[in-house]
Amino acid sequence: MDYYSSQISNLISELARLPGIGTKSAQRLAFHIINMPREQVEKLSSAMVSARNNIHYCKECCTLTDDDICPICASAKRDHRTIMVVENARDLAAYEKTGKYEGVYHVLHGAISPMLGIGPADIRLKELLLRLQKDVDEVIIATNSSLEGEATAMYISKLVKPTGIRVTRIASGVPVGGDLEYIDEVTLLRALDGRIEL
Ligand code: ZN
Repeated sequence: MDYYSSQISNLISELARLPGIGTKSAQRLAFHIINMPREQVEKLSSAMVSARNNIHYCKECCTLTDDDICPICASAKRDHRTIMVVENARDLAAYEKTGKYEGVYHVLHGAISPMLGIGPADIRLKELLLRLQKDVDEVIIATNSSLEGEATAMYISKLVKPTGIRVTRIASGVPVGGDLEYIDEVTLLRALDGRIEL
């Protein structure tokens, strides 16, 4: 990195911290940014700063929102007695895109992973349990079918069962290890329709 000015090296190393960006991509992005019109760079940086400063967790479902309560939780048209539990906001978006799911969500922001040292207290489970004290008919567990996703599903089902609330798991139409966000809508809906009782 010594071939570059310290400013460029700094930009490259900051970009390289982003997920999925290796040193080579970081270099390519850095040079692209340096050649971009100044206003465009300002737009990009201010979009990042304002998103980071103004977006927070929905007080109800923990998804990312600009408001206290996200539009899904605020909607009277949604079935608030059915909660689909997903690992992240991208998985929520995948199901929302189908336009067929009428319930609400709960976003965990991760999955239990003993290997990575992520325990139940590190994801938004406490918030889920609080919601279950209200009128809830069903909890649909739609965590990924990875080891972590399955471990999380097991953990949640054990937590929910004693409450008497119906617990289901989306069907295995979702390929093993598959991230929900990469799966097509038909498969997502089939997985939802074919959900099984836990
Ligand atoms: Zn919400």
